Amino acid sequence: MKKVYLDNASTTAIRPEVVQEMVSVLTEDYGNPSSTHSFGRSAKVLLETARKSIAKQLNANAQEIIFMSCGTEADNWVLRSAVKDLGVHRIITSKVEHHAVLHTVEVLQHEYAISVDYVNVLPNGGIDFAHLSELLGQEQKTLVSLMHVNNETGTILDLERTGRICKQHGAYFHSDTVQSIGKTEMDLQELPVDFVAASAHKFHGPKGVGFAFVRKNTGIQPLLYGGEQEKGLRAGTEAVHQIVGMAKALELSYANLETERNQITELKQYLINALQTAFPGTQINGGENGFYNIANVLLPFSNDKTAMILFNLDMKGIAVSRGSACQSGSIKPSHVLAEILSDDDLKKPSLRISLSHFNTKEDIDLLVEALKTV
Ligand code: PLP
Repeated sequence: MKKVYLDNASTTAIRPEVVQEMVSVLTEDYGNPSSTHSFGRSAKVLLETARKSIAKQLNANAQEIIFMSCGTEADNWVLRSAVKDLGVHRIITSKVEHHAVLHTVEVLQHEYAISVDYVNVLPNGGIDFAHLSELLGQEQKTLVSLMHVNNETGTILDLERTGRICKQHGAYFHSDTVQSIGKTEMDLQELPVDFVAASAHKFHGPKGVGFAFVRKNTGIQPLLYGGEQEKGLRAGTEAVHQIVGMAKALELSYANLETERNQITELKQYLINALQTAFPGTQINGGENGFYNIANVLLPFSNDKTAMILFNLDMKGIAVSRGSACQSGSIKPSHVLAEILSDDDLKKPSLRISLSHFNTKEDIDLLVEALKTV
């Protein structure tokens, strides 16, 4: 049975060149970057070369890249330090953020009694900018946290516009860019953002490593205390093999961006055409203008088919994600779709199909054939 992986917003297959690079570090360069002998110095060079390479891809300064264990950690750190150390009394976010942001904000609200405002989300999943400006009109030291590409629907936020509004009102701007870094160009020198979060396993790198971009002189304070690693901002011996793997993955993502983006864009169109032909009435949650590798589709299936859909696909070796929860055995609907779909549509089966350059039209054909048998 050919297995088909269509869940690239969850995680991606690691590129072989990345594995090669990581194995070389694990076997040859096992020194501790904090050691002053030659083994340590070699590891330190690898670490700082990786930092420079990542910074270069995103037009940032190397000192602005802080290595983290994952995207969740980067989101948590920035939000917490903003409240604890930067005097932020209010966070503006949205109900469609990833839980790495939403749950952190809830905890901070509880711990520090900050106020939290949720900017309105439009039916297409986008942010209501007029409402954001209105909220920012209230004078209060604020951090705005809004994600770049939504991991469930692929809805894209205009970072430039959002950042400009934040600057006009003197608010910090953090964006969870976990789904977009490595998949779209980003010029962090130019973009009016203060903080972004990234995760290597979303761009064909290893799991367990990510980074935060923290604009110079923001005054953010350490996440972990101990050694001097990461300029004292995140103590703990660095995972050199992971970091080198992440830098390699990002470098390859940007080197191949145009070709791979074109290939995936075409594949997404093929997928949507195939679904709409096989199942007339298929709708795209969040609309047609979502990010090029994510399609969240609502299928015109009867309720009795809903419960077993993911299970059936899984039995056929096909991996996709739930769009709404009813079909995954969970009783909770997706918090993102709950914001943009009617109660009726929420009960119907939605699937999140997310693509990478490793996918082919044959994968799509197998998915559609499998869905026909559900
Ligand atoms: N933010 C978004 C938008 C994501 O899609 C994810 C991963 O699912 C995360 C944060 C968390 O990233 P990580 O798995 O590296 O903690």
